[in-house]
Amino acid sequence: MERNISSLGIVLHSQRYGQQNRRLKLLTVDFGLIDVVSYGAQKSVKSVKAEVFTDAQFFLYYNPVKKDYTLKDVHVVSTHEELRQDLHKTYAAIFFCELIIKMHGGESSEEYRLLSQALDFLTGSDAETDRVIIQFVHHFSDLVGLRTDFSRCPICERTYEQNEVVSFSSTLLAHCCSNCASLDANLLLPPGARKYLMVTSPMSFEQSLEVPLSSAATLRIKRYELQYAQMISGRMLKTLASPLLWDEASV
Ligand SMILES: [Zn+2]
Repeated sequence: MERNISSLGIVLHSQRYGQQNRRLKLLTVDFGLIDVVSYGAQKSVKSVKAEVFTDAQFFLYYNPVKKDYTLKDVHVVSTHEELRQDLHKTYAAIFFCELIIKMHGGESSEEYRLLSQALDFLTGSDAETDRVIIQFVHHFSDLVGLRTDFSRCPICERTYEQNEVVSFSSTLLAHCCSNCASLDANLLLPPGARKYLMVTSPMSFEQSLEVPLSSAATLRIKRYELQYAQMISGRMLKTLASPLLWDEASV
C-alpha cells in the first residue's frame, strides 16, 4: 500500500536515473536522509523540479514493501539559486551537502535547520562565505556529537594554558594537548583560534557569524576546520580534493 507523506527537506544530491528520471538524496526533518526518485524530471517541463540546494516541503509516495520514495510535488521555500553565481559559495554549499551525506547521524531536524540557515547566509550577501564555512563545520561537529570543550584536553582533562598551541587526537577525532596527541597528528590549533571556537561554541549559528574576525584569522581557522572535516569524514570529501575551498573567498 503506498502512502502519501510529506516533510520539510533539502536536496543534497541529484543524479540521473534511467533515461528520464532523477534520483535525489534528501535531508528531511521527518525521515532523515532518504533517496527519492523523481520520475520524468530529466525531460518534461511539467514534471516536478527540485535542484540541489532546494529547501522545500516535499510531497512523497512511500512504498513500504519496496521501501522507496517517489517525488509527487514540491512547495519551494528557497531554491538558493543565487549562490550559484559565485563559485566559492557553490563549492561551500556542495561541501556542506557532502559532509552531511557522509556524516549524517545527529538529529535530522537540527541538521536540516543548520544547513537551511547556512544556505540562506550564502545566498544573501551579508555574511562572509569563509565564516559561514567555519561555523557550519563547528556547529555540525556538535550535532554529530564530536565537539568537545575547547578549554581543556578531553583525554587527560588538563585545562589548557592561555598561550598553548593545541594538538589533535586522531583516535578521539578531537583537539587535545601535545602529550595526548596521536603521533601522526599534524592539526595544530593556535591559541587565538581556539579562543574563537570556545567563545562561539554556545552561540546560535546566526550569533556566531557576528563575532568579528580578521581576514587572516578567518583564513587560518577555515583551513583548520576544513582539515578537521577531512579528519572526521575519513578523507572522503571530493569538494576538499580541489584547492578552491582552501583559498580565501572573495566575499
Ligand atoms: Zn592531554
